[in-house]
Amino acid sequence: MATEESFLLDVREVRQETADAVSVVFEVPAEHEETFAFKPGQFLTLGVPSDQTGLVARCYSICVPPGEPLTVMVKRTVDGYASNWINDKLVVGDSVRVLPPAGIFTPKSLDADLLLWAGGSGITPVLSILRTALAQGTGKVVLFYANRDQDSVIFGDQLRTLAAEHPERLQVVHWLESVQGLPSQEQLRAFAAAYADRTSFCCGPAPFMKLVSDALRSLDFPRDRRHQEKFVSLGGNPFGDVEEVLAAQATLAEADDADEADEAPAAPAFAGPVAVEVELDGTHYAFDDWDGKEPLLVFLEGKGVPAPFSCREGECSACACMLLEGDVAMDRNEVLEAEDLADGIRLSCQARPLTEKLRITYNG
Ligand SMILES: Cc1cc2nc3c(=O)[nH]c(=O)nc-3n(C[C@H](O)[C@H](O)[C@H](O)COP(=O)(O)OP(=O)(O)OC[C@H]3O[C@@H](n4cnc5c(N)ncnc54)[C@H](O)[C@@H]3O)c2cc1C
Repeated sequence: MATEESFLLDVREVRQETADAVSVVFEVPAEHEETFAFKPGQFLTLGVPSDQTGLVARCYSICVPPGEPLTVMVKRTVDGYASNWINDKLVVGDSVRVLPPAGIFTPKSLDADLLLWAGGSGITPVLSILRTALAQGTGKVVLFYANRDQDSVIFGDQLRTLAAEHPERLQVVHWLESVQGLPSQEQLRAFAAAYADRTSFCCGPAPFMKLVSDALRSLDFPRDRRHQEKFVSLGGNPFGDVEEVLAAQATLAEADDADEADEAPAAPAFAGPVAVEVELDGTHYAFDDWDGKEPLLVFLEGKGVPAPFSCREGECSACACMLLEGDVAMDRNEVLEAEDLADGIRLSCQARPLTEKLRITYNG
């Protein structure tokens, strides 16, 4: 299996943000600056060392605007392996294996008026979007930020300073469960009603994101103005160049095969040679021989197309592409909602052909 090139980055700083969360600042060598250029809201995939599996891959969103030192924020998950390892063990001078920035949770226009929602650690990509919009855009921004209690608020000082610096453009509304209880859909709806013409970005625990999404739907927010980022742990390992990882994965795969003997991988629904056209970073590619035995991403990699990806498991959105013509089926999809699918978004790492011609873009 081809693997995306990973890089060893040195840790320049580890900052304690709250009792349960640290920010980690990476040193990006000059020769890799272009590789690690990012859009607000994107994430990195880190390889966290493990005595059991060699390496555990986890995604962490970048919490700063482009141009600032590459920083992620990691909040402890109860009984979580990687998040606690990062909080407890990672120190300045350590090197971490990192995949370049990826993800589609990013505003198309920084001038749009934004309605931002964050719950707990979900503030990470939202803060990057908020700060970038204030610095580079012209629109107004309102942030609804939900936390368990005052001590759980991450980046509270930064938000206070930003709100004071941009009184005409930024409003921050804190919702503390310890004070107000959990927000209800009706309360979120009432809050959002004043901002029904804005573009929404939401990241937080699944129940919070569902409430926000239901509230926005009930206000007839169109799908193209509603964006959300799901935080899940990757099951696979996109690094692949660590021998112990491969050995461990082979053992696990054998066990999985035995467990799932009757779950044959999805056969391509259209087996003939498929004509594939791809737009990626301003370059057009055309091929006429995808047989669908391997997912679209693997086919494109074999043709030398530098298509983006991270998990290869249908669990993150790094490989997402947009259909322009034709369609594909996905073996697995843990991230795209029904509305994303209706919009033509597909995960290329899981895509098998359904039509004899396929045109996609990664530029959407
Ligand atoms: C796009 C995206 C962006 C994200 N951004 C952020 C962010 O900005 N901030 C943030 O805090 N989180 C973020 N997350 C969530 C993050 O990736 C992790 O899901 C989260 O930190 C929990 O991971 P964990 O390993 O601590 O917990 P879990 O995934 O719950 O870890 C427990 C798992 O680790 C296994 N395990 C236990 N011990 C070991 C061992 N020694 N070796 C190997 N495996 C072991 C267990 O079997 C168990 O399956 C993001 C997720 C995504 C997809």
